Amino acid sequence: MTEKVEKTDRPEFLFLAGHPCLDFLNTRPLVKGHAVELLGTLEEFLRWLTRAGRIDARAAADAAKKWNDGPEGARVTDRARTFRETLRHMADGLVKSRGVSTEGLAAINFILAENDGNLRLERQGGGFRTRFAARPTNPIILLGSVAEAAADLLSRSDLHLLRRCGNPECVLFFYDTTRNHRRQWCAMGTCGNLMKVRAFRKRHRRAN
Ligand SMILES: [Zn+2]
Repeated sequence: MTEKVEKTDRPEFLFLAGHPCLDFLNTRPLVKGHAVELLGTLEEFLRWLTRAGRIDARAAADAAKKWNDGPEGARVTDRARTFRETLRHMADGLVKSRGVSTEGLAAINFILAENDGNLRLERQGGGFRTRFAARPTNPIILLGSVAEAAADLLSRSDLHLLRRCGNPECVLFFYDTTRNHRRQWCAMGTCGNLMKVRAFRKRHRRAN
């Protein structure tokens, strides 16, 4: 019974941001006013990476086997959470038109520099693509794939389309890919409806 309650209380990972870097930021949502940590353990971090398509199931299983019981697993998960908060600060700065801090940029580059490997050229359909193949010996590779997503967001996206949910009690970010760029909510079914009901009530009170 208790287990059932815990399961329903714990939110699933959210993949609604439209960009993997922002989905990563959204792994610490607010539920009923309280921050919920979804990356508490290496196992959870690996599950997120797999669900996000940043690593494949085999790499995740390998990583769990190698690092779950040692100090490396806890260390890299702790770094993932710290990195996420640095990225959150950066995203917040972008939304508020403050630009990207030197610390944010340095944090991404620091991880990219540690992520040892090489660029590979591969066939894709009739053409080619490049892919960074990290050497799978150091747990930093797990964070490397997140740093790559952050670098991709900064270098290839229109940063004016980065948004924070319009519900002031929500901390989720998203990349607005709608045609008229007027997406306001992380999700229509949750924050969108809530804010619409609130706006309706406010209008209704005024009318009376
Ligand atoms: Zn929201």
